[in-house]
Amino acid sequence: MHDVVCDKCGKECQVPFKPSSDKPVYCSECFKSGGSGGSRRGGSSGMSPEQFNQINEKLDKILEVLQTLEVEDDSEEE
Ligand SMILES: [Zn+2]
Repeated sequence: MHDVVCDKCGKECQVPFKPSSDKPVYCSECFKSGGSGGSRRGGSSGMSPEQFNQINEKLDKILEVLQTLEVEDDSEEE
């Protein structure tokens, strides 16, 4: 058990996990009342628009390769 001070009510309490400095720690009462809600970081997928564009570019290249392969397959069949 680790001694912590509740980030919400300021009460001294103990938690079974090691408290990290970048996350608020709540006592059992505040935790039950939903004290950890509302602080979400980043988007739902955690992907930035730049990363999304990079992946799109890669997908375009892959599609190009696949299309050329399909054309070759068709010419072989007939
Ligand atoms: Zn509390």
